[in-house]
Amino acid sequence: MTTSNDDLFTAARASIPGGVNSPVRAYGSVGGTPRFLVSASGPRVTDAEGNVYVDLVASWGPALLGHAEPHVVAAVQEAAARGLSFGASTPSETVLAELIRSRVSAAGVNPIEKLRLVSTGTEATMSAIRLARGATGRELLVKFAGHYHGHSDGLLAAAGSGIATLALPGSAGVTAATAAQTLVIDYNDLGAVRTVFAEHGDNIAAVIVEAAAANMGVVEPEPGFNRALVEIAHEHGALVILDEVLTGFRVHPAGYWGLSVERDGLYQPDLFTFGKVIGGGMPIAALGGRAEIMDHLAPLGPVYQAGTLSGNPVAVAAGIATLERATPEVYAHIDAAARRVAEGVSAALDAEGVAHSVQWAGNLFSIAFRAESPRTYAEVQDQDAFRYGPFFHAFLDAGVALPPSVFEAWFLTAAHDDAAIEQILAAAPAAARAAAT
Ligand code: PLP
Repeated sequence: MTTSNDDLFTAARASIPGGVNSPVRAYGSVGGTPRFLVSASGPRVTDAEGNVYVDLVASWGPALLGHAEPHVVAAVQEAAARGLSFGASTPSETVLAELIRSRVSAAGVNPIEKLRLVSTGTEATMSAIRLARGATGRELLVKFAGHYHGHSDGLLAAAGSGIATLALPGSAGVTAATAAQTLVIDYNDLGAVRTVFAEHGDNIAAVIVEAAAANMGVVEPEPGFNRALVEIAHEHGALVILDEVLTGFRVHPAGYWGLSVERDGLYQPDLFTFGKVIGGGMPIAALGGRAEIMDHLAPLGPVYQAGTLSGNPVAVAAGIATLERATPEVYAHIDAAARRVAEGVSAALDAEGVAHSVQWAGNLFSIAFRAESPRTYAEVQDQDAFRYGPFFHAFLDAGVALPPSVFEAWFLTAAHDDAAIEQILAAAPAAARAAAT
């Protein structure tokens, strides 16, 4: 007997807050019943009612190669058969660390000398901040409005993603003392960066920045922004944490950093954070940087950081299998697929006279319902977000699952073939009409 999504949601709400284990999944901003997924393969996901959707969420990024890629699944099965978790060192975790480390290279420079594996992006950024504070002996953190770095207390000020979707200013439960240690400034505003350093420079441990913002919709840093940010921070003895949890190994073999060095010239953030793609769908994330900083971590140094499941062998196997297959051809395919989808959807919106801008960062894109391209969180919020619900549901009715929030990026994968792309493009005119009303 088929269980309906409605019944599953009712049951889930009885035992799980809001019926979900991560807020954006609840369809809060688009309305309707979340689809309860039971399987996924290639570019498609299947819900509990047997409906199949072309998926543009890709688990929010990890499924670079598509869902259940056979080599990745085989690697996971093989690793699982040898033991699910040892809580001890394994040979394979060094292989994954080295794969990540060696790929983050541009202009002959490799800014990551050492790397520590953790289990989630939240842990990676939280640990990177503790490390930056421990290494500099300073307390303050600078972040940008609309940037999301996971849900640790100090990072929930003006965060994007679910916070943006729910229109919350931050989170209850974060103490005033913690919030006071995070200084939030406007993105893409070097004047604001200079001002915050002029006022607090001696006590700023680090600036954390999404390599390219993708949790308030996609908003690329203006040319030279990341590079100037590093220069200013370094002038004041502060570190820069480049958060590549979402962009890392998705937009370019060397992450968004690699892509931007090609465009802007070399700049060297001090710490990097990764997640999503490096686990290929299993829980792995990482922080890395120069040895001189990373060696402040326990057991070498005084900055404590640990995890029962850190470097989990099954997740590491998925990460290795994924990164080994993240070839230049994979990126070329995703780049081209993303262009086709974005151009087709944009043309459909144009045909209906719906003001919009397609926001790009490498192969990541999102559509903002405003004529001019937004550069800051305030501009992102100044759009006809009400159009996204009908747009989303028209696509869903046609078997295409977009991210359930206008503030999220669209994720193409290596598995999005012509059939999947054509299904998306065929659905676009009706979706554009729905957005127009
Ligand atoms: N940093 C960025 C840029 C992210 O996009 C995310 C999640 O979307 C995180 C950190 C947090 O990662 P996780 O959800 O694995 O905790």
